[in-house]
Amino acid sequence: MTTFNVRAVKLRPGEQFRDVRSVDLGPLDLGGQRYVPIPESPEAVITLTQTSSGLVLELELEVRMVGPCVRCLADAGVSLHVKSQEYQATSPGESDELTTPYLVEHRLDLSAWAHDAVALALPDKILCRDDCAGLCPVCGLDLNREPHEHEGEVSDPRWAALADLKDQL
Ligand SMILES: [Zn+2]
Ligand SMILES: [Zn+2]
Repeated sequence: MTTFNVRAVKLRPGEQFRDVRSVDLGPLDLGGQRYVPIPESPEAVITLTQTSSGLVLELELEVRMVGPCVRCLADAGVSLHVKSQEYQATSPGESDELTTPYLVEHRLDLSAWAHDAVALALPDKILCRDDCAGLCPVCGLDLNREPHEHEGEVSDPRWAALADLKDQL
C-alpha cells in the first residue's frame, strides 16, 4: 500500500506541490475475471494545490491492465490514462462532499485512490479485439479460429412452439 503524508508538505493558499510516486496497484476484478496492472506500481503524478478553503488533490497515471478476453479468454488488455481529482476542505463540517475518503489523519492512501480511479476508467468489458467472435456456446471451440455453426441446435422460440404443437397432435 502506498501512502503519502500530506502534512509533510507545507502549502500556503495559492501554492502547489507536485511529485511523482510509484503507486502499488493491486489486481482488479471485472466481470468475474481478474486483470493485473503493468507495471505493477505505475508512476503517478500527484498534485496538491492549497486554496483558501481547502486542498485540491490530483492524481494522474498511465497503466495497462491485462487479463483474459471476456468472450474467448485469450490474452487481452487495455491501456488507460487515468486522471482523478479529490477535495478536502479545511473545515468540512458535516458534509461528506467536502472531504476525500482517501485522506485519513493526513495520510493519503494513494493505492486505494489509484485502484478506484483505474476501476472507473475501465471499459465495460475487455476484449482481445472489438469484433471477437467468442467461444461456441455449444462445443466451446474458439469461433475466431474455427468459425462454425451447429445444425439442429437453433434455439428459436418459434421452433419450440412448433414442437409443442406437434406433441399435441
Ligand atoms: Zn476474444
Ligand atoms: Zn461449436
